[in-house]
Amino acid sequence: METRQETTERAYYDHTGPEPAAARIRELRKEGDKLAALLDRTIFYPEGGGQPGDRGTINGVPLLDVQERDGEILHLAAGDAPLAKGPAELRLDSRRRRDFTAAHTAQHLLSGTMFRLTGFPTVSMRLGDEICTIDVDVPMLSAETLITVEEAVADAIEENRPVIIHLCPPERVSDFSLRKVPPQGEEVIRVVEVEGYDIVPCCGTHLASTGAIGMLRILGMEKHKGMSRVSFIAGRRVLRDSRMLRENAGIASRILKVPAAEIGRGVQALMEKTGQLERDLKNLEEAAARSGAEEMLRRAGLYPGNGERQDGTLYAESFGDAGIGEVLRIGRAAQKMSGAVLVLASERDMKFAAFCSAKKADVRPLVQKAMEARGGKGGGGPGFFQGAFSSAGDLRAFFESLPRNVPVAPAKE
Ligand SMILES: [Zn+2]
Repeated sequence: METRQETTERAYYDHTGPEPAAARIRELRKEGDKLAALLDRTIFYPEGGGQPGDRGTINGVPLLDVQERDGEILHLAAGDAPLAKGPAELRLDSRRRRDFTAAHTAQHLLSGTMFRLTGFPTVSMRLGDEICTIDVDVPMLSAETLITVEEAVADAIEENRPVIIHLCPPERVSDFSLRKVPPQGEEVIRVVEVEGYDIVPCCGTHLASTGAIGMLRILGMEKHKGMSRVSFIAGRRVLRDSRMLRENAGIASRILKVPAAEIGRGVQALMEKTGQLERDLKNLEEAAARSGAEEMLRRAGLYPGNGERQDGTLYAESFGDAGIGEVLRIGRAAQKMSGAVLVLASERDMKFAAFCSAKKADVRPLVQKAMEARGGKGGGGPGFFQGAFSSAGDLRAFFESLPRNVPVAPAKE
């Protein structure tokens, strides 16, 4: 027996509703940047056994967390919360409590059913604000197994099995065939039995029977540290999840013009169609770039070209409306038809690119210094160089500084 002067009476198992409860704040203490209140009795469950601590208010002050440390229950509020020693009115966030109690009871049923049907034990569990998980000691669980377990859990919910709490002295704990090792050094061990399904020592909050869970949905399984992490939701969360999925399915169904049950196949068909359109578009863009390149080289007097004879010839053109993507496609296509140095710009995007496919040619001496002199930024290699300006004026000035439309050596037969 510990020799603590005062302990907190734990009334949280019996108090589950929104009605207020009277207590006394017997001590206030700084805990980091928070204020911790210690009470003579509490209706708030402190975090433990995978279940988060309750929320609610003390004299209207919202609780940020409830934690148990060294046998003391700390009710944590903001550091500057207006709490004082003396009488206090406690109010539990009973909706949140109900939500976690349902999830916790569902977890017992799920772990017990998993063990009964597969022989694999649950080694840890977590009840989250969105989803809950159990870690099952097996590297992999098949989709079929998960469905079998889910259906067996649904049976147990329909059968409305009682959930019985046994308060048991440690010497009698071996009377039960427990799924988990009981805690050591306790005066009384709380054994939670889902009749016919599961029996484990547990200090969390539980529903009185399985029917109150309503529904349990297994969301999926992922491998985690050599084990199977099974995620699930229970209670009202299943209803909210179904509503959310229905809403989204409705949107997809209207857009795809297929029944909700066929949206998977509808999306697949749409993706195939989109993929084909993308390939068609790419082909069209390339064809347009080839004809754009031919036209440009004609304007420059460089077409039909013969790479070798055009080495060293520089041609510069600025495209008004075309984006740099289109300019790059034209440049790449033109590069295959001519060995000239091509400096092409998109005025709209204030960017340019220089190309040359002739061997031994280097575009950098032609453009790099001129670009930097106008505050442009860019880089590249001997055959390809890209740059950008922060204003259309700088791009224009850069262009004017380049030798314009250098005459082409007459094509020889
Ligand atoms: Zn429990």
